[in-house]
Amino acid sequence: MSVKTYERKRDFAKTPEPRGRMRKPGGKPVFVIQQHDARAMHYDFRLEVDGVLKSWAVPKGPSIDPKVKRLAVPTEDHPIDYAQFEGVIPAKQYGAGAVIVWDRGTWENVTRGTAETIKEAGRAIRDGHLVFELFGKKLKGRFVLQRAGRGRERRWFLIKSRDEIASAGKELVRRDRTSVVSGKTVEQMAQHGDPREA
Ligand code: MN
Repeated sequence: MSVKTYERKRDFAKTPEPRGRMRKPGGKPVFVIQQHDARAMHYDFRLEVDGVLKSWAVPKGPSIDPKVKRLAVPTEDHPIDYAQFEGVIPAKQYGAGAVIVWDRGTWENVTRGTAETIKEAGRAIRDGHLVFELFGKKLKGRFVLQRAGRGRERRWFLIKSRDEIASAGKELVRRDRTSVVSGKTVEQMAQHGDPREA
């Protein structure tokens, strides 16, 4: 696990994003979903595993309908402090555009039925099948990250498991568009959100 790729891609003199730092495990692992209005709008889904935030870009955002599979494209590991970040990444910088914390909370690995350690979560991700429970403000209950296909056909999907929280047809990302931190939408963040421009 490393945040070297994360650091290499960014100029910390120019971006307000936090510098990479690993964190020793302790307490419940966190998750964050950041809505990111970059070249294409997407939702960055991040789970704390082994001192970093394992990350996937989900173009359409999470669904709470178990029949919907959402493409999740793996991206570089992010530092744990990134779970606090929202703001505006300046033009010409990597990932330029507004970011809001769409949801945040803790999570638990339940791949093999019972609560497991983070280390086992790392192994489950390498094996391409992670079942987990989210304890967020918006997202709760059980989800699956599933890898499918081989070589260039390899894809990850984020899927809601069937439980009492699952809800067919309801598009949470459309109905609830504000940050759980600032209450801003990503559009409001783009207009007013960068404190250095205030
Ligand atoms: Mn992103």
